[in-house]
Amino acid sequence: MVFEGLASKLQDTLDKLKSKGRLTEKDVDTAMREVKMALLEADVNFRVVKDFIKKVKERAIGQDVMGSLTPAQQVIKIVNEELTELMGKEESKINFASSPPTVIMMCGLQGAGKTTTSGKLGGLFKKKGKRPLLVACDVYRPAAIKQLEVVGEKLDIPVFSMGDKVDPVNIAKAGVEHGKKNGNDLIIIDTAGRLHIDDELMDELGNIKSEVQPQEILLVVDSMTGQDAVSVAETFDEKLDVNGVVLTKLDGDARGGAALSIKAVTGKPIKFIGMGEKLDQLEVFYPERMSSRILG
Ligand code: GDP
Repeated sequence: MVFEGLASKLQDTLDKLKSKGRLTEKDVDTAMREVKMALLEADVNFRVVKDFIKKVKERAIGQDVMGSLTPAQQVIKIVNEELTELMGKEESKINFASSPPTVIMMCGLQGAGKTTTSGKLGGLFKKKGKRPLLVACDVYRPAAIKQLEVVGEKLDIPVFSMGDKVDPVNIAKAGVEHGKKNGNDLIIIDTAGRLHIDDELMDELGNIKSEVQPQEILLVVDSMTGQDAVSVAETFDEKLDVNGVVLTKLDGDARGGAALSIKAVTGKPIKFIGMGEKLDQLEVFYPERMSSRILG
């Protein structure tokens, strides 16, 4: 489970504080050193950890005595609030087009979970009454088109494809036209990935973006790759100016460093999290729930 290690360490540290009546500055210092270690062990970005500790410390030491909360409860409240803030405060919604269809462009490295997530996202919005269309633009990865078709079939969502001999930019354009003609109000474009970031991939994605002008570009990153996921997010965002991130495989990520670093490092919110391989295992990301989960 995600944040396993971090959750138990933070809870231990904060429990120790609870056993004290009054808190001295030294108590807070010691606790914050432990929180810092726990965050670093969870693979949170070093700069993010430094800023986080500084903010919590300032607030914890400078705090006025507040109503019914004990000093330890106040520290816990501050840690909770700052963790939530770190992850983006509130849920970040999809930008829907004022006149449909809304076009969502999915991008990311190969294996991050892009194709699966394209389907999952279609499924999620289909349940909410949208009429999605999946567009297969990954012409490089063997079987990617077939995979999207299988996903579409399982979810009963149409898939637009033109095989793997057509330029992805043209497929994307034709896909959007097809969706408009067929009354699809949500068009999800599954683009190609590569094993590593390269200029060719970025140019292709840039061309798709300028041709179809999506309302939303979602970057899919694998949480299990930790700080690599964060640098991938930085690079994609520099080139494409993404709207948000889908963090996949959080079900298998015991540390959670990417979840706690991406927003602070890139400025872009996590909008959804992948919690398993099944097509209904995609969740809206709620920072507050996540930080409450960490603090138990
Ligand atoms: P793509 O190359 O980015 O299109 O990646 P795929 O969609 O093919 O996914 C790569 C692998 O990751 C597949 O085996 C998926 O089932 C798996 N996967 C995707 N999302 C998740 C997730 O949230 N949790 C888990 N456990 N596996 C996932």
